[in-house]
Amino acid sequence: MGSFLPDSSSYELLTVIGRGLDDLMTVNLARYRPTGIHVAIRRIDLESCTNDMVTYLQGELHVSKLFHHPSILPYKSVFIAENELWVITPFMAYGSARDLICTHFTDGMSELTISYILLGMLKALQYIHHMGYVHRSVKASHVLISADGQVCMSGLRSIFSLIRHGQRAKVVHDFPQYSVKVLPWLSPEVLQQNLQGYDSRSDIYSLGITAFILIKNYELSMKPSRSGADSGICEGPGAGGVRHSNGEPSSSSGGHPYNRTFSPHFHAFVELCLQRDPEKRPSATTLINHPFFKQIKRQPSEALPELLRPVSPITSFDSSQPQDSPSGLASLESGLSHLEVDDWDF
Ligand code: ATP
Repeated sequence: MGSFLPDSSSYELLTVIGRGLDDLMTVNLARYRPTGIHVAIRRIDLESCTNDMVTYLQGELHVSKLFHHPSILPYKSVFIAENELWVITPFMAYGSARDLICTHFTDGMSELTISYILLGMLKALQYIHHMGYVHRSVKASHVLISADGQVCMSGLRSIFSLIRHGQRAKVVHDFPQYSVKVLPWLSPEVLQQNLQGYDSRSDIYSLGITAFILIKNYELSMKPSRSGADSGICEGPGAGGVRHSNGEPSSSSGGHPYNRTFSPHFHAFVELCLQRDPEKRPSATTLINHPFFKQIKRQPSEALPELLRPVSPITSFDSSQPQDSPSGLASLESGLSHLEVDDWDF
């Protein structure tokens, strides 16, 4: 993708495609003026961040420099523009897995589609764990899919290193901060916050929850009162029924979740990930070889765009959109009718 100047005037902000960090972060689609290439820019209002938050963000930026893997979203440039931290990343034109299940695959995705997404996630986790880190924020909004079907993991803000004073610790006791929305995805041992601590297997549990949600969009019925947190899976820009939806019925999903059947391998895979005892959960490396993935016969670049049809990646861009309009994406897809999601219950 080449290099990107650390200068805000080199970027034309187009429209808002996401928000995060308790709304302190806005994700913009933007055009890089020197080449015309489209990128996503994460803009964080530093004036509204506490000192602790800034330290947290520094940790994320440090890790992003260390990591180089095709399944992890790369940070192409990082700089301060006025009072904002700008992080330039490739634009992932299918958005996140959350966007996809909120706008089109409202009854869940097909098993084969899920297998491609989970395999991409596992490759990222295998690398992260091998590097001595626990991701701690594995969830559908942190899985992004590019126009050519590459699956990338993002969400490095909560990542935690097991390496202490040059030694790899067996467990972590630290509880991830600023991540209320991730609570429903966290493993029992992370939530328990007890002396036993947790390790990279906690990410495997969150992967199991992701699988479950991609099957049946389970969070539609997940109430804040029960989980203690609003996971916000289907809210905000990019998830309000505008992104990628082409107004067709969910014909490419596997049908209503309660009428669908899944292979025994898929059941076994999800069950393994969701073992309550972390010792019984396989590592990412072991899971990559699980028979569930034997159904994958083609490269994701060939298969995923086809499997995600009739959803199409955003490839036409309108620079006349207001920069902060959450509904800007709707105009990018003018002519496409919207799915109704108002009655979803959190
Ligand atoms: P939270 O605080 O909820 O954990 P976050 O701060 O981690 O959120 P992200 O989930 O990374 O923020 O980004 C919010 C949303 O913005 C994503 O779910 C996705 O819809 C969109 N988004 C982020 N980065 C990109 C990208 N590179 N390409 C396309 N869409 C993106």
